[in-house]
Amino acid sequence: MERRQNKRGQVFGPSRDPKWQHNCYFNFFFPIESNKKSSSQVTKQNPLNMRLTTIFLLTLMLFSSISCGDSGVNIFSVQDDVMLGQQLRDEILADPEKYPVLDRNSYSSAYNYVQGVVNDILASGEIQYKDEFAWEIYLIDDPETLNAFAAPGGYIFVYTGILKFLDNKDDFAGVMGHEMAHADRRHSTNQLTKQYGISLLLSLVSGGDPNTLSQVLASLVGLKFSRDHESEADEYSVIYLCETPYAANGAASFFEKLINQGTASPPAFLSTHPNPDDRVSDINMEASERGCDTTFNSSASEWHNFQNLLP
Ligand SMILES: [Zn+2]
Repeated sequence: MERRQNKRGQVFGPSRDPKWQHNCYFNFFFPIESNKKSSSQVTKQNPLNMRLTTIFLLTLMLFSSISCGDSGVNIFSVQDDVMLGQQLRDEILADPEKYPVLDRNSYSSAYNYVQGVVNDILASGEIQYKDEFAWEIYLIDDPETLNAFAAPGGYIFVYTGILKFLDNKDDFAGVMGHEMAHADRRHSTNQLTKQYGISLLLSLVSGGDPNTLSQVLASLVGLKFSRDHESEADEYSVIYLCETPYAANGAASFFEKLINQGTASPPAFLSTHPNPDDRVSDINMEASERGCDTTFNSSASEWHNFQNLLP
């Protein structure tokens, strides 16, 4: 399938098409600049060793470590995404006051229903890390929060607020497609790469800073995706859902309902940009240009039965 552009000039296409690569900017300037401080600090201690390490790492990064095509430059490996996601998940589960996660056994029917939607999306054939990532869903009991978020490695957290807000299973599949895209496109570690640059890699490999991992984890908790990442997650939600029984533009319904209700402060899921109107039209345009089915076929009563399973 051809690479195509949306109205913002971003290029999108199916991940399994070898011809397709998301625009990748090899911007070494910023990370190398940011590395100067830490590099000179360590150089005082062991100049030759450090210089050799730097040369080795830069070579390594240029020829093997940097993955490009997962929404930009990423110094983390796919296994790093899983490892960081697991640690973040464990931190969230260890804080039930802030994140009251519903018990998987007590709410097994609700979890099975949600997992069924995830499995349908995984079966689309469009998820690049279908087998590598966990694709574990956690429901957070907070009816006031219209949100969902994805940790790296396929750990996805959904608030009961958004489940009660949405009107049908197709809408929910759209939201799940969006969150799964953040994980599968590796947006978190891509963002962290931008944030920390080569200095992080140097620090992790040389063992120079034992606090780096906890810093990374702290950054992950409050991580905001960029406008491009949000747009890409919307686009991929369409790409995934197009190959499922769900309406391919399911993700648009969430924004449409918010717009119609005139919700004053948009939830984090929306981010502050791109604006909801643009997102709705981009999602609908993507589905239409791909010739995807946008019929909402799921049963309203089935969805309401699911909602009634929630506390
Ligand atoms: Zn998002």
